[in-house]
Amino acid sequence: MTLYLKDARYLDAETLEIREGILAVTPGPAGELTFPDTLPGADSLQPGDRVIDCRGRLVTKSFACGHHHIYSTLARGMPAPPKIPTNFVEVLEYIWWRLDKRLDRDMIEASALTAAVHMAKHGVTFCIDHHASPFAIDGALETIARSFEKVGLAHLLCYEISCRDGDGPRKAGLAETDAYLSSGRKGHVGLHASFTVDDGLLKAAVDLAAKHGTGIHIHVAEDAADQEHCLETYGKRVVQRLSDAGALDSPHTILAHCIHLSEEEKALVRQSPAWVVQNTESNLNNNVGGANYRELGERVMLGTDGMHSDMLRSAKAAYLIGQGTEGISPDQLYRRFRAVHTFVHGMGAQGDGDNNLVILDYDSPTDVTPENFPGHFVYGLESGHVATVIAQGRVIVEEGRVTTVDEGEVLAFARQQARRLWDKLRVNG
Ligand SMILES: [Zn+2]
Repeated sequence: MTLYLKDARYLDAETLEIREGILAVTPGPAGELTFPDTLPGADSLQPGDRVIDCRGRLVTKSFACGHHHIYSTLARGMPAPPKIPTNFVEVLEYIWWRLDKRLDRDMIEASALTAAVHMAKHGVTFCIDHHASPFAIDGALETIARSFEKVGLAHLLCYEISCRDGDGPRKAGLAETDAYLSSGRKGHVGLHASFTVDDGLLKAAVDLAAKHGTGIHIHVAEDAADQEHCLETYGKRVVQRLSDAGALDSPHTILAHCIHLSEEEKALVRQSPAWVVQNTESNLNNNVGGANYRELGERVMLGTDGMHSDMLRSAKAAYLIGQGTEGISPDQLYRRFRAVHTFVHGMGAQGDGDNNLVILDYDSPTDVTPENFPGHFVYGLESGHVATVIAQGRVIVEEGRVTTVDEGEVLAFARQQARRLWDKLRVNG
């Protein structure tokens, strides 16, 4: 089964070279992208082969998200919390921890399916997620994995283990992670943040990650409160604590946010093989500040932190705030947007190969060239330009419509589960 894209204007996501003509895409995790000179004649097309006419439109590699929380999907418009949060820790206590404690399996499935549909429609075909549902942990990761795959997304998942809900959820989080990674799935050992993870859990998580040849995925110094807690409790700063525990030793480790770091901590991050994720809009929303991510080295990628599922939007926000925080150029921002592919490749994860593509209905009033593409990327290109999405050689969105699931059914299921969740939020005050 080969998918032919004719009359395509293919932009190589790495070199930015543009070549016009025919693309041939084969399906599956090991599928490839080749550039035949001619289309096979009608009599030599194989059963299952298909030709899509790109009509001269731009085609490039699809997008990936470095840090998401699909568990927040049903929060949109939810009842107001009993107290309006006045700082970051209260945002967690009064909004996110009230919500995630009430999630059950159906709500998780609805959240994952809806987020996957939204990602697909925005050209995102690979997602690194960080999940929390402290009283519905068992089987949660497999539920999310299957929901993503139903829509056509590839993924690296984890459960965010913490001590905040006591020993039961803490043990269940470790067990769920061990079971999921033992089943052959690739993913991470997730931890919430230093201030909710004691030394025993940190050690257990680092050991579990080593057992499975993976890294830790944790929030780091998202707010100054994380540093204050660490200094008071452990007599050291967060990155030092993680480094001492061996959590920075893996090239598969993900440190989300890294906003309030000292110069020593920045050096520790730079010298480690760990990766950092910037989540601009979430940081603005929580009023936790911003950072100069260029000081953290080259291994920086972008995420949404559950705010939405649109990576082009995240990239624009990172570019705009980056003017004040680090004087970032369009090219530097574009490289940061694409860095996630290097991370995913390094994990040995499947599903982010060259057979993942977007066809863009990009109505530019000016020429697009290899030299000026980063300018188009930050000032022109939006997810509204995403027409067709090919994930692992398979069309999952065609001319704006999801082809793999019934979007109406997914949204109806999500609304039903959101009403159940919100009823629980009201009853429990
Ligand atoms: Zn996060």
